[in-house]
Amino acid sequence: MSNDEFPTDRPAVVTCGLPYANGDLHIGHLRGYIGADAFNRALQTLGQQSAYVCGSDMHGTPVAVNAEKEGVDPEDFALEWHHQYEETFPQFNVDFDNYGHTHDETNTELTQTIVRTLDEEGYIYEKKIQVAYDPDADQYLPDRYVEGTCPYCGEKARGDECDEGCQRHLEPGEVEEPTSTITGNPAEYRDRTHKFFEVSEFADYLTEFLDNLEGTSNARNQPRQWIEDGLQDWCITRDMDWGIDYPAEDGDTEDLVLYVWVDAPIEYIASTKQYSERVGTDEYDWEQVWKEDGDIVHIIGRDIIQHHTIFWPAMLDGAGYNAPRGVAATGFITINGKGLSTSRNRAIWAKEYLEEGFHPDLLRYYLTTTGGLQQDVDFSWDAFQEKVNGELVGTVGNFWYRSLLFAYRNYEGTPEADVSQEVQERIEGAIGEVRESVNEYSLRGVGQAATGLAQFGNEYIQRNEPWKLTDDEPDQAAQVIRDCVQIAKAVGVLLEPIAPDKAQLLWEQLGEAGSVADAHLEDALDAPPRNFDEPGELFEKIEDERVAELNEKLEERVAAASDDSESGAESDETADDTESETESDDTVAGESDTMTETSDLEPLLEDRIGFEEFQNLDIRVGRIEEADGIDGADDLARLEVDIGFEQRQVVAGIKQLHDLDELPGEKCILLANMEPAELFGVESNGMILAAGDEADLLTTHGDADIGEKVQ
Ligand SMILES: [Zn+2]
Repeated sequence: MSNDEFPTDRPAVVTCGLPYANGDLHIGHLRGYIGADAFNRALQTLGQQSAYVCGSDMHGTPVAVNAEKEGVDPEDFALEWHHQYEETFPQFNVDFDNYGHTHDETNTELTQTIVRTLDEEGYIYEKKIQVAYDPDADQYLPDRYVEGTCPYCGEKARGDECDEGCQRHLEPGEVEEPTSTITGNPAEYRDRTHKFFEVSEFADYLTEFLDNLEGTSNARNQPRQWIEDGLQDWCITRDMDWGIDYPAEDGDTEDLVLYVWVDAPIEYIASTKQYSERVGTDEYDWEQVWKEDGDIVHIIGRDIIQHHTIFWPAMLDGAGYNAPRGVAATGFITINGKGLSTSRNRAIWAKEYLEEGFHPDLLRYYLTTTGGLQQDVDFSWDAFQEKVNGELVGTVGNFWYRSLLFAYRNYEGTPEADVSQEVQERIEGAIGEVRESVNEYSLRGVGQAATGLAQFGNEYIQRNEPWKLTDDEPDQAAQVIRDCVQIAKAVGVLLEPIAPDKAQLLWEQLGEAGSVADAHLEDALDAPPRNFDEPGELFEKIEDERVAELNEKLEERVAAASDDSESGAESDETADDTESETESDDTVAGESDTMTETSDLEPLLEDRIGFEEFQNLDIRVGRIEEADGIDGADDLARLEVDIGFEQRQVVAGIKQLHDLDELPGEKCILLANMEPAELFGVESNGMILAAGDEADLLTTHGDADIGEKVQ
């Protein structure tokens, strides 16, 4: 059963992952908040009733550890960040209908009610488990208070997540060779009784849920694999003071709080409830959305897929709530091709961006249209400049200004004529593209529909040369300019979800009343007002000197941060790492610093090999003929590669890193005598060569034929 297309006649809610209230926001975070905001606005242009809600995540060890480091009470610490976020989001035109926090009364009550219901329904049981304990500090070590080795992949991991390795959620007691992050001493495991949520009971339900789930494919494929591997029940309590108390009557659990990942997503409901209570249930009914038939869409970072596609829908179903309709998981942000790292100060901070005087809509446009939602997006000031100058200044701004200025000078506004058939159809086509893109959760598609229409406008005005017609063919000139004014208005309506301020300015220049945010897509076809004033330019070019200056600042900052960490004592480095990690995983863009870090090149190998050994490698020039994803494997793609003699099927870990549709026809380099292997049931017969974390595919640049040997 598939969903009806948007717009539906039901209320929708759009959420994004809650930011942990524990540090400054940077563009890695903003990608998610801006993306979800743009998606919500785009839904509304389709005529969908929709609310956008979120809140600060106040609990858990990410907050407690940082508060402790500063020697302050976790509530005061988190509230201070919460207030700062409340101020920052509107500065990026991120327009929440409600922004609460997980420690407020609404969320506390709702969380305890939901947990009680799950208990009454028989989904919660007690079990004795081993919990890490630091005898020197005389306290238990939940989650980020303990580090050790991942039992699944052997990488270094923190207590609740294998953040540097396989990305699995780890249960208390799972991490091997536990070390206390408080004292750095080895921790011991002690017996404790904890509460467990029976996730394993929901395997069938979740399988069906995933079959109907919309959003990005990574949010379906990863959890399918986890279900196939066998679901484990989930420990939902912790030995901590800071958090929401476990709602139990028996004495045993009085000192337990709920695991942060229980109450964090419930804030989505609590925040919707607060919004509903403020505007009245006649206008927006939170219970209809969450308990009857609303459309729930979560936009999150890809490091928190498991929480949103396994634990959360199981909790919702167990407590009698609706299932989410869509989960869209965004990729990470890299800076100048390297992993964003807060500890190395390799980041663009929200505050910094604004202080540099750039308009928020420029960043909104860059972050939403540079890659698809699930792709990693690289930010550099050079690429930012190129995109702003090329697409916003050169295409959109140029078209807006030249057509409106021509209209104003010659007609004092919109010439009296009807829009031509050609232009009417072109605008209708762009509206269709937006509608389709929203239903495919493609913000890039929304942006491209708007810029594509502006591009058409530029070509249209160029092709018809109205400046040559005004004297001899006044009707024809009026027709062309009438068309252009309509295109300008349509571009504004289409661009509003992504660049709301700029669209509003255009709207006002056209003499339109009210807010462009209230316009629906079809309004793009309504005639603009007859008269308007002289227009101004809406976008400003970013000069080369400015970019050079910004690059220099960033380089100096990163260099200073790495000097600090190199000269620092070992204990400082540990603290530094913890800080960078604690800023990560709950946030929507989920900058797990350690995961994307590519700071140093791999050292050169000392051991030399003989020519003969090299000759044993049969490396060939190939051409990719087909490329498609492998079901159930999040990162793997199946390629058919022509190597002259034959076509080879090869499995490569490039699904997330390349647009597979773009690959057929590309030349590549293939290690042809690699031993065959089977991955996810697909035979791989060779290995294509690539460099770096982004899997930059090797190729040839001259006239080497397909099948020729590399030597
Ligand atoms: Zn692991």
